[in-house]
Amino acid sequence: MNPMLAANGVLTPEVLIIGGGPGGYVAAIRAGQLGLDTVLVDGDRLGGTCLIRGCIPSKALIHVAGLYDEMVKAAGEKGRYGIHLGAAPSLDFAATIGWKNGVVERLSNGVSGLLRKARVNVVSGWAKFSDAKTCHVETVEGVITIRPEHVILATGSRPVELPFLPFGGKVISSTQALELTEVPKRLVVVGAGYIGMELGIAFAKLGAELVIVEAQDRILPLYDTTLTNPVRKWLERHGVVLHLGSKVNGISGDNLNIETALGERLALPADKVLVTVGRKPHTEGWGCEAMALAMDGRFVKVDDRCATATTNVWAIGDLVGEPMLAHKASAQGEMVAEIIAGHKRRFDPAAIPAVCFTEPEIVSVGLDVAGEQHVTGQFPFQANGRALSMDSGDDGGFVRTIADRQSGRILGIQAVGKHISELAGEFTALIEMGATLDDMAGVIHAHPTLGEAAHESALKALGRALHI
Ligand code: FAD
Ligand code: NAD
Repeated sequence: MNPMLAANGVLTPEVLIIGGGPGGYVAAIRAGQLGLDTVLVDGDRLGGTCLIRGCIPSKALIHVAGLYDEMVKAAGEKGRYGIHLGAAPSLDFAATIGWKNGVVERLSNGVSGLLRKARVNVVSGWAKFSDAKTCHVETVEGVITIRPEHVILATGSRPVELPFLPFGGKVISSTQALELTEVPKRLVVVGAGYIGMELGIAFAKLGAELVIVEAQDRILPLYDTTLTNPVRKWLERHGVVLHLGSKVNGISGDNLNIETALGERLALPADKVLVTVGRKPHTEGWGCEAMALAMDGRFVKVDDRCATATTNVWAIGDLVGEPMLAHKASAQGEMVAEIIAGHKRRFDPAAIPAVCFTEPEIVSVGLDVAGEQHVTGQFPFQANGRALSMDSGDDGGFVRTIADRQSGRILGIQAVGKHISELAGEFTALIEMGATLDDMAGVIHAHPTLGEAAHESALKALGRALHI
């Protein structure tokens, strides 16, 4: 914190941002770049859920799990691609978590550096509002009062806790799962959504016996089953037990008690129970109720500029609604900083990409259900040279492009396959720029790359497929 600002005991910046996650820190960097006197408050390390206990640590773990799994296969009798490991690999999981923590630390320090460069004053402590424009922050040096012109709320979200399965002991949330120092021998995951599937698969690759309990009748219910079938097949091939349409009743001793879709009561032995049944906006404990904000269900209500019902109070990221994704939060943060600086901006993306880092990965951008008025082209990775050369052509993956039948305008692109998360940018750019199937078909894609499958899906929709 810059002590000069606190000389009269009250800080009066132009912009006060609560929350140093991707929404808050991006808003702060942009506000600082635009010359606004900006204070950013966070009670934790900089980076928020995304960087400290979400996107980044989970992807680091997924990376190590993939490597380990390949090595275990190479150590098997048949080896892998002619590679034979003389002995099975050994895993020092505490060291894995140490490496993951190093990645997190490096990025969190990077955020600090960027904020310094943008001349943002960072205050470390928990913020509480007594009214919409008065904020008190408990720091180690005492309470600081801040009366800003503008407030940007970016307090993020928290894991949902099931009342009959409270966190504690062997019942853990994603935060604790990313801090374990041993791979649980028997892991039961409750909730087969984003986190449950990403972390569940990672732990299965690391050697855990995985059981998944999901209330709905399919995994990853937010995607259509055509997209999730390859993931489901991977689970089946790897001995993961799935209880779909099942209800959790509670935990007793070592067992998680569930009732299956057929009404059968089962006691599932578990060393850890990872509960991933969704996240809720963080609206409690910081004076949200004192700010006269309108609510939209559990979320803070905002308009298409992220303005709340209270003048000059803005809200962004997980706090304001679905999708609860880091790139949505940061896009909103950048926009609000620019609006405060006088720019004319609205949050009106043509599409927000969703990526699930399962095995195989799933990407979905824009429209995902085609009707009569649409034309669809689907191309399998089985016919893509790059996929086959990376041994990822036979897991049922494909790219699917959906366009308006009359205009050819691309409305949605989905893909499932190994490594395809990196195609999310191309898919989103095509939709955001209003490309048609002819535009997509006219783009020369480098060979051999997975992107050629996207190209072919457009050709297929146009009835001109070359490689199937
Ligand atoms: P957050 O990142 O939650 O940050 C909020 C910040 O506010 C926190 O740092 C908190 O300490 C601070 N704060 C809150 N209240 C106060 C207060 N009163 N005073 C001071 N500070 C306060 N999204 C993706 O797009 N891709 C992924 O791959 C992905 N993976 C994920 C994996 C996991 C395991 C989890 C849990 C989430 C994942 N997400 C992913 C979601 C992503 O992390 C969130 O969408 C994103 O972090 C939301 O950003 P935010 O800025 O709104 O809030
Ligand atoms: P989620 O909404 O993705 O999935 C929750 C799952 O739990 C659903 O399938 C739901 O049917 C199931 N469920 C709910 N109550 C249940 C119960 N009582 N018993 C059994 N199953 C139950 O939630 P999540 O996995 O906790 O993730 C939270 C959010 O974090 C996501 O919505 C997403 O926004 C974000 N996230 C994104 C990524 C990514 O972008 N790759 C990764 C992780 C998390």
